[in-house]
Amino acid sequence: MATTAFSAAWALLLWISHTASSARVYPPNEVTLLDSRTVQGELKWVSSPTEGGWEEVSIMDEKNTPIRTYQVCNVMEPNQNNWLRTDWIARGAAQRIYVEIKFTLRDCNSLPGVMGTCKETFNLYYYESNNDKERYIRENQFIKIDTIAADESFTQVDIGDRIMKLNTEVRDVGVLTRKGFYLAFQDVGACIALVSVRIFYKKCPLTVRNLAQFPDTTTGADTSSLVEVRGSCVDNSEEREVPKMYCGADGEWLVPIGSCLCNPGFEERAGACQACKIGYYRALASDAGCSKCPPHSYSVREGSTSCACDKGYFRSETDPASMPCTQPPSAPQHLISNVNETSVNLEWSAPAFSGGRQDLTYNVVCKRCGPDGQRCEPCGVGVHYTPQQLSLRTTRVSINELQAHTNYTFQVWAVNGVSPQSPGPDQAASVTVTTNQAAPSPVTSIQAKDITRHGVSLAWQQPERPNGVILEYEVKYYEKDQNERSYRIMKTSSRSADIKGLSPLTSYVFHVRARTAAGYGEFSTPFEFMTNSVPSPIIGDGANSTVLLVSVIGSVVLLLIFIAVFVIGRRRSKYSKAKQDSDEEKHLHPGVRIYVDPFTYEDPNQAVREFAKEIDASCIKIEKVIGIGEFGEVCSGRLKMPGKREICVAIKTLKAGYTEKQRRDFLSEASIMGQFDHPNIIRLEGVVTKCKPVMIITEYMENGSLDAFLRKNDGRFTVIQLVGILRGIASGMKYLSDMSYVHRDLAARNILVNSNLVCKVSDFGMSRVLEEDPDAAYTTRGGKIPIRWTAPEAIAYRKFTSASDVWSYGIVMWEVMSYGERPYWDMSNQDVIKAIEEGYRLPPPMDCPISLHQLMLDCWQKERAERPKFSQIVNMLDKLIRNPNTLKRTGGEIARPNTTLLEPSSPEFSSPLGTVSDWLTAINMERYRDNFTAAGYTTPEAVVHMTQEDMTRIGISSAAHQDKILSSAQGMLSQMQQIQDRMVPV
Ligand code: AMP
Repeated sequence: MATTAFSAAWALLLWISHTASSARVYPPNEVTLLDSRTVQGELKWVSSPTEGGWEEVSIMDEKNTPIRTYQVCNVMEPNQNNWLRTDWIARGAAQRIYVEIKFTLRDCNSLPGVMGTCKETFNLYYYESNNDKERYIRENQFIKIDTIAADESFTQVDIGDRIMKLNTEVRDVGVLTRKGFYLAFQDVGACIALVSVRIFYKKCPLTVRNLAQFPDTTTGADTSSLVEVRGSCVDNSEEREVPKMYCGADGEWLVPIGSCLCNPGFEERAGACQACKIGYYRALASDAGCSKCPPHSYSVREGSTSCACDKGYFRSETDPASMPCTQPPSAPQHLISNVNETSVNLEWSAPAFSGGRQDLTYNVVCKRCGPDGQRCEPCGVGVHYTPQQLSLRTTRVSINELQAHTNYTFQVWAVNGVSPQSPGPDQAASVTVTTNQAAPSPVTSIQAKDITRHGVSLAWQQPERPNGVILEYEVKYYEKDQNERSYRIMKTSSRSADIKGLSPLTSYVFHVRARTAAGYGEFSTPFEFMTNSVPSPIIGDGANSTVLLVSVIGSVVLLLIFIAVFVIGRRRSKYSKAKQDSDEEKHLHPGVRIYVDPFTYEDPNQAVREFAKEIDASCIKIEKVIGIGEFGEVCSGRLKMPGKREICVAIKTLKAGYTEKQRRDFLSEASIMGQFDHPNIIRLEGVVTKCKPVMIITEYMENGSLDAFLRKNDGRFTVIQLVGILRGIASGMKYLSDMSYVHRDLAARNILVNSNLVCKVSDFGMSRVLEEDPDAAYTTRGGKIPIRWTAPEAIAYRKFTSASDVWSYGIVMWEVMSYGERPYWDMSNQDVIKAIEEGYRLPPPMDCPISLHQLMLDCWQKERAERPKFSQIVNMLDKLIRNPNTLKRTGGEIARPNTTLLEPSSPEFSSPLGTVSDWLTAINMERYRDNFTAAGYTTPEAVVHMTQEDMTRIGISSAAHQDKILSSAQGMLSQMQQIQDRMVPV
């Protein structure tokens, strides 16, 4: 009893000393579930034992408010076990709760005679339950939260001392799952006073961040958990980026993300969106805040998103809301005009008032008026304005193609972005002018009514703008070749003229101009016509110039054909050497041009005049020597013809001291070349025959002859590029064969290459085929023939045809694909003739696609009728170019044989087809590589003799795969034999 009385006395004392200043204000992030000090009346917690253990003691705080405490102080007696249990406490939203205990605890050392029995701690327990009226809870059902010791104990009772400290301990418990719980305090022999017990949980309190509101949020169950919360935009705001925050376990908000923006017309103030005041506006949510209305504008209500313009002021559709309201400009100043015949130049200066804007432009309005300056109407189309009529940024304009002697009124309008909203006459300046007398505009449409051998009848339309009464027309004409050096003039008052005294079959150029009282207009652009070869007119009324030209040329060609056929008949025996022995291939269809042999002309100079243009030597500039031809040096240089641009040319010269025959032979090449017009045939520019040296001028081919070019670029081109080269040559040859021209010396050395890799067939010297070519050899009949390039029938009995050109083309293909290798290497001409006769053919060059070698073999068919035509070759090559996959398959890595015959056993030649592995990969059968290796088929030589049974034996069961491998192996076998024989037997 003495102990109890003693403890009650100091407990009261302590409470008064330490709780006097406590106010019932909790932190905003704590929600209190129980506070013993706020309970009205007694607590009546359950004590066990009911007597002699925890005792409820009511005391008064300094404001005389009663509060309840529990005390126990059985320090003298051993084995104390005193329990105090609270009532059931509802958990609410909390998952983790906090217990804050304020208590005092007596220091055992300060109590005499308590050694061994006095304790300085007590234990805290809880028990979760959905039942709010548990009658009896066993001790062992409680879960221990902690043993609690005092931070501050005191050593002596001193009534007068008011500085004693109160202990405050906080413990947390979680995760709670039931509806509520009981707390229990176990005393084991200490002297304690529980002054207050408060139970609370934590929340993140409602808050606004970045204009987003986040609600009250209970913290997570774990001490480390973060609860993600989505905010909602405050009134008059909208989301810019989803607002989010995290509620931390201690009730603090963390990591704000995203935000809201105040709506237009509102701005952020004190975490809310407040309307802009009158006289202010906010146009966009992205604008910083409300702004004062710009000059000449106003707002009459709160929350304005824009300001209206003052009266007489405007805003264009594209003006930003922040721009002041503006006005249209005043009229341009000082408008002056300057008349020049039918042109008027206007100049002015900027308006005095720009309206407050920078986007000033000018529009010009043109009106044509009656003689009295009245009855004006818009000028309409046909009048030209420089630089333009509307949206002018300059302060001047030139107006052309007005009518002569006419009154015009011009208005120049100053315009800015707000003019359309308030157009007024005070924005324009105007001026009235009268145009002067002017010459007529050029005549534009001339027609030839009649063309004869010596004359032409012309007719034309009145000029578009006569600018007065036309008094007369003037026709100027001259021979096209003579240019304007000597021309004739004819005058007429009508719109037609009969021109007489012209030379037949000659191109003439005509110009017409008109004259009024104001003088001559300009000449028309040139109109070209060629006079006829027959006396009567062949063109009827209304034929246009193109039809006329084509008809004239057509008739000329027809005439030439007749002459040619006639003369060939007569001179057959005389010119047998040059004769084109290809009658069977001549396509004498109407409309197809046929080559005319210049040697069929009685006077070969006539053929030169006919087919080659004479060039004035002064137009040619020789620059350097690039080669030696049969008749003299070949040079490069430049050709500048009057009225044409300068071009690079090749110039073949005829050396001094030539005979008449040499001159004729030399120029025959020009007569032949001049008949051709094809991108893959070397183009003749003309000849110089009237002075010395005599020259043939052709287009310049920068890369020279094809054989040397290929040798210089060995291995540098793709197969597609090589096929492109072959296609060009085939196309040129098709053109020649269509014209019934047989080349006879088609070889890479006679193909020229330009800078774009375009190949052109050249070398049309008739005699050179037999005389000059270094590869040509005398045959048994005495004529010279390039044996390696020539078809057997042409060697044997001079049967030169387009089909023999096809044979030569096959050899050119071989030269191209082997980068200029010499056909048949160092074999003698006799050996070549013999081998061909026995059926041998050149093997595919290294890396040559099989399809191309096949085409070569087709060109080398013994029977010339079985060789492809050039048109078929072109189609075939086009097909290959379109499907490059067909060019992938090559005949294997066939080595390029050297010039000595290689024996089959030569080590260098032991495996020219590569490895078995490569071969299988090439035919897409590499999956069987191991089968071949395991069975010992390790060389192509072993593979080529395999049979179907062998295939099955080594594990290739698919019949399709067996077929594929066997047929490829057989191909390989034949290639081996060809390599061994160095030639392809066909
Ligand atoms: P030719 O007398 O036609 O065999 O010409 C002799 C050499 O002059 C040829 O091998 C070419 O290297 C060169 N050559 C001939 N014509 C031309 C040309 N049009 N452009 C460039 N080089 C040419």
